[in-house]
Amino acid sequence: MTTHLSLYSHIPATDRLLRDPHFLVVLETFGHRATVDMLRTLQEEAREHIQAENALPDWAEHWGLEVEKRLAANTQNTLRPVINLTGTVLHTNLGRAQQAEEAVSAVAQAMRSPVTLEYDLDGAGRGHRDRALADLLCQLTGAEDACIVNNNAAAVLLMLAATASGKEVVVSRGELVEIGGAFRIPDVMRQAGCTLHEVGTTNRTHAKDYRAAVNENTALLMKVHTSNYHIEGFTHTVEEAELAEIGRELNVPVVADLGSGSLVDLSHYGLPKEPMPQEMIAAGVSLVSFSGDKLLGGPQAGIIVGRRELIARLQQHPLKRALRADKMTLSALEATLRLYLHPEKLAERLPTLRLLTRDAASIRAQGELLLAQVAQHYPDFDVRVESCQSQIGSGSLPVDRLPSTALTFTPRDGRGSQLEALSARLRTLPVPVIGRIYDGRMWLDLRCLEDEERFLEMMSK
Ligand SMILES: *Cc1c(COP(=O)(O)O)cnc(C)c1O
Repeated sequence: MTTHLSLYSHIPATDRLLRDPHFLVVLETFGHRATVDMLRTLQEEAREHIQAENALPDWAEHWGLEVEKRLAANTQNTLRPVINLTGTVLHTNLGRAQQAEEAVSAVAQAMRSPVTLEYDLDGAGRGHRDRALADLLCQLTGAEDACIVNNNAAAVLLMLAATASGKEVVVSRGELVEIGGAFRIPDVMRQAGCTLHEVGTTNRTHAKDYRAAVNENTALLMKVHTSNYHIEGFTHTVEEAELAEIGRELNVPVVADLGSGSLVDLSHYGLPKEPMPQEMIAAGVSLVSFSGDKLLGGPQAGIIVGRRELIARLQQHPLKRALRADKMTLSALEATLRLYLHPEKLAERLPTLRLLTRDAASIRAQGELLLAQVAQHYPDFDVRVESCQSQIGSGSLPVDRLPSTALTFTPRDGRGSQLEALSARLRTLPVPVIGRIYDGRMWLDLRCLEDEERFLEMMSK
């Protein structure tokens, strides 16, 4: 094959292109440097294309448009909104809890303006940044004080480092869990400078095991909520209240990592009950930690509530400075916690609870309504409305499922490549739609679909 050398002369010179009126707009939008760099990239690409294909690329008719299109794609934020139809409400890879509008406004305000982060308007000098939130948390949980850090992993690390460094922490063998990624209780212990004192067995741990473990070097008794796994059969665990008794008797503080934790009794909403921080405090647990962006429905944060003198040790520890939350997190968290002061409206205002409590019949009705409008645009698929099961997610028990409805797409030719193509197409929508491929079909669980109009508009193109 001989290369048509003349084709190369169709690649315009940079100077000439930049004088093109179309480029004035591009230059204004993206700047000289980025525009010229992109032009050079495209010129190079055109040369390679000629060499390989003996032809100019298709876009070579419209250099201005192509440069603009590529620069626009490059400058799009990589952190983008998506529509979560995976069926997992608190999806860690999709950023967990969606924030309440009240939290969104509070964050926007804190970003735009100086705020009273560590400043008392009444000059009382109470001063640390968690103060306002701590008061609110005490009101909600009955604790004496509180401390806020970057996430619950940080909360556990800080609790251990500030109260048990160089000492022993007693934990049941059945609670030495891995939460995901690099968060494993024995590793966190080591990082915090504590010695792990394992008691009991994988399936059974008794009060007498904890009692026998306590010695003069014991700093803490610890409970870890085994949120992501469940064992059945011949089991026994010591609940927090009983452990708090033992702690009181032997004069050793008890700490509990609740993981998710919920400030409201979820069973009142027909959901599986999760441990509640206020119950732990009432039972006499000294420090309780939980996440801000799991069932609480707020921003990523780690919340520790408990006894005043222990919280003071956390606040004064050098790690607190490294793990502290910023003004945006604190604003969002405060606005979220304020919603809990009006529990009657909580399920309406707090997106996490709103989505978790959507009733199965209304999701089904939404599915029936969408079916006809969506199906006609996907002739290669058998589109149906099917019952499915949503998950709470983020370390809630995988066995606790919520009845829901999905739109399912089965390729008429039964080919997996069709499914992959559909999945890719949904991911490239202006607001990407994330579903789940399972059992030879694409499942779009409608539980978390609130912006139906936008969804329909995109799916109909
Ligand atoms: C989720 C979880 C953590 C980690 O919390 P993050 O807020 O994700 O850092 C720690 N412990 C338990 C028991 C958890 O469920």
